[in-house]
Amino acid sequence: MKENQAMQKLPPYLFARIEKKIEEAREQGVDVISLGIGDPDRPTPPHIIERMEQAIKDPANHQYPSSVGMLRFREAVASWFLDRFGVELDPKSEIVSLLGSKEGIAHISFCFVDPGDVSLVPDPGYPVYNIGAILAGAEPYQMPLTAENRFLPALEDIPQEKAKRAKLMFLNYPNNPTGAVADAEFFKKVVEFARYYDILVCHDHAYSEIAFDGFKPISFLEVEGARSVGIEFHSLSKTFNMTGWRIGWACGNRDAVEVLTRFKSNVDSGVFQAVQEAGIAALEGPQDCVEAMRNLYQRRRDVVIEGLNEMGWRLEPPKGSIYVWAPVPKGYTSASFAELVLEKAGVIITPGTGYGDYGEGYFRIALTVEEDRLREALQRMHDALGKVEF
Ligand SMILES: *Cc1c(COP(=O)(O)O)cnc(C)c1O
Repeated sequence: MKENQAMQKLPPYLFARIEKKIEEAREQGVDVISLGIGDPDRPTPPHIIERMEQAIKDPANHQYPSSVGMLRFREAVASWFLDRFGVELDPKSEIVSLLGSKEGIAHISFCFVDPGDVSLVPDPGYPVYNIGAILAGAEPYQMPLTAENRFLPALEDIPQEKAKRAKLMFLNYPNNPTGAVADAEFFKKVVEFARYYDILVCHDHAYSEIAFDGFKPISFLEVEGARSVGIEFHSLSKTFNMTGWRIGWACGNRDAVEVLTRFKSNVDSGVFQAVQEAGIAALEGPQDCVEAMRNLYQRRRDVVIEGLNEMGWRLEPPKGSIYVWAPVPKGYTSASFAELVLEKAGVIITPGTGYGDYGEGYFRIALTVEEDRLREALQRMHDALGKVEF
């Protein structure tokens, strides 16, 4: 048995590697604090679970769902979207449910790229954009996200030869791993670029509801012309602490939605309807749980930023996402610094290189542990590292 070339080209999934490291350290008796994985630690709000409890008893929900999703779920999405972004979506043609947004993000490449086509992916970035492109036989082109550009890709730096062959461009704001956010001005440039080169823009909005200091992220679809070139991926995972439930949606350009739906109808049978019912409860129910979650992450963010700045970093608090992205001190690579912090402090941080070559020189901290553990992690880092220099 021999796996195919695409599988051979895949890097090992980052978090699988981190989990192995945690396991090894714990086996040696270390009380490891993992700031490695972006999986919300708090439970799903009770009103969502209650809806699931009811829905699971209904035999109508025990049968195959449809790939596109229940119309009621898509209507709930449309109404939430209008309320949140002021953008009207047709539930019948502009929304498709997903088994978590990761599923749609990986599969969109299979719908729009052929071998030899280019896929424009942010670097550093959520690994699935790159992986989807590779699996579909496309050639990923890494758009560097640098501090100088506020972690927005410099579209003018994309070589024409690549842009002309590009079919997809992936973007993600609020951004994993950098915590950067985007404004309408940037999205307008993206629309222009995508129109010129005939590229489908795939905006990953997994952190649409996780922003701080009163900042409200916009939807790519709010920008004029975006719907003619773009599709947006949304997820209930981070907004409602539902990572395990596997539900999200894609919305926007109706041709793109139709093609993705057609692909999905051939490879999956949709989201368990009881989970879709829970999704409806999440979208239509009280939103104070979302506000509480924002406040929780904001407090944790401040603990991390203050702790690191006391050690010698000079970080601005990120405006969104559940991550702090920071440069490694002088004399270290991403990997050597992450290793040092694990060895000396028993703390797992993610080396920036896990998100692409341009992540070299950085590390990521996930704000997914309780404040007292975060404080302890920072104290241990302080004790082990003292003052750091850059
Ligand atoms: C967590 C995450 C997702 C995946 O969310 P699911 O809906 O749970 O699949 C997508 N994009 C980014 C950037 C994420 O961090």
